[in-house]
Amino acid sequence: MTEVKLTLERVHTLVVDTLMRNGCDEENAAAVASVIAAAERDGCHSHGLMRLAGYAATLRSGKVNGNARPKVEQIAPAVVRVDGDGGFAPMALETGRQPLIDCARKNGIAAMALVDIHHFAALWTEIEPLAEAGLCALACTSYKPAVIPAGGKKALYGTNPIAFGWPRKSGPPVVFDQATSVVARGEVMLAAREGHQMAEGVGVDADGNATTDPNKILDGSLLAFGGHKGSSLAMMVELLAGGLIGESFSFEAAARDNNDGGPPQGGEFILAMDPGMFGNRDGWLDHSETLFEQIMAQEGTRLPGDRRHDNRERNLRDGISLSQAVYDKILEL
Ligand code: NDP
Repeated sequence: MTEVKLTLERVHTLVVDTLMRNGCDEENAAAVASVIAAAERDGCHSHGLMRLAGYAATLRSGKVNGNARPKVEQIAPAVVRVDGDGGFAPMALETGRQPLIDCARKNGIAAMALVDIHHFAALWTEIEPLAEAGLCALACTSYKPAVIPAGGKKALYGTNPIAFGWPRKSGPPVVFDQATSVVARGEVMLAAREGHQMAEGVGVDADGNATTDPNKILDGSLLAFGGHKGSSLAMMVELLAGGLIGESFSFEAAARDNNDGGPPQGGEFILAMDPGMFGNRDGWLDHSETLFEQIMAQEGTRLPGDRRHDNRERNLRDGISLSQAVYDKILEL
C-alpha cells in the first residue's frame, strides 16, 4: 500500500482547508483540526483523518452548524454549562475549558454540561489538558444505539466512552479512554471489510443471537464489556451525558438524526476535581506516584496512555503516515 508522510502542521492545514471548503468557519475548523491532528500524532487513526469525510458530510447536509458560537453560563456554584450552538464538540470544549478549570480550582470540584454539540472524537484529547492543569478529570458522552443492555436483544446504548485523567509529578498525566462496548464499532467494520471473524462475546445478530460474523453484528448489536457491569456503566453514561444535563439519550439522538455519516446531536458530561482540596493538600501527588510505581514494578504492565505517548514521540520525529488512498479521498473533499 502506497503511503504519504505528513507533518503535524500539514494534517492541521488539510483539515482546516477541507472543513472551510465544506461550510465551516476558520475558528470551528481549527478546533476540529487540533483534535484530528492530535489523534494522528498519537496513532489513534480511528479518530483521525479517517473521520474527516464524516465531518464534511454533516456540514454539507446542514446538520452541524459550522459557524457555531458556543455560550458559557455558570448555572450553579460548581456547574458550568456550555451551549454548543449546534456545532462540533471541539469548539464548545475549548470555550468551556478555562471556566471549568477556574470553577474546579475555586470549589475543589466542578462539572461541565455540554449541550447541543456533535461529538465524533476520542475523549482523551479533552481530558489531557485538564489533567495537565493539575486536575483529576472524568468525561463521558453517548452516541446512537449500538450496544444492547445486558440480557436484552436490541441496541439501546451508544458505545458510550468514559475517559479519566490523573496528573503526574513529572511527565504527561495518566489518561485512560475506553468505550463501554467490548470493541469499538470501527473494529467490526474493519473485520467485515477484511473478511475475518470477530471473537466470541463481541456481538449478536439482529435477532439477538450470539455470532462472530462481523456483518451480522453490524446488522445487530455489540455487547457491553464485562457483561452486566459494562452494561451498567453504559447506562450511567446515558444518564450523565443525557438525563443529568437535559440532553438526549442515544435512542433519542438516533430518532432525529439524518444519518449523513456524521455524529448525531447530543451532550457530554465532564467532572473536574482539584486533588489538593480533598484533604491531602501536600501529599496527594507523591502518594499517587507510589501506586504507579507499584503497577510498573510488575512485569508485563504499562500505564494507560503509554502507547499513545510512544506513538507521539515517533510521529513527531518521523512524520505521520497516511495511506495514499485516504489522502486522495481527502483532497477530493
Ligand atoms: P482501547 O480498548 O484501545 O483502549 C482503552 C484504554 O485502555 C486506552 O486508554 C489504552 O491506552 C488503555 N490500555 C490498552 N491496553 C492497555 C494495557 N495493556 N495496560 C494499560 N492500559 C491499556 O479503546 P476503545 O477501543 O475502547 O476506545 C477507542 C476510542 O474510541 C476512545 O478514544 C474513545 O473515546 C473513542 N470513542 C468515541 C466515541 C464517541 O462517540 N465520540 C464512541 C466510542 C468510542 P493507550 O491509548 O495507551 O493504548
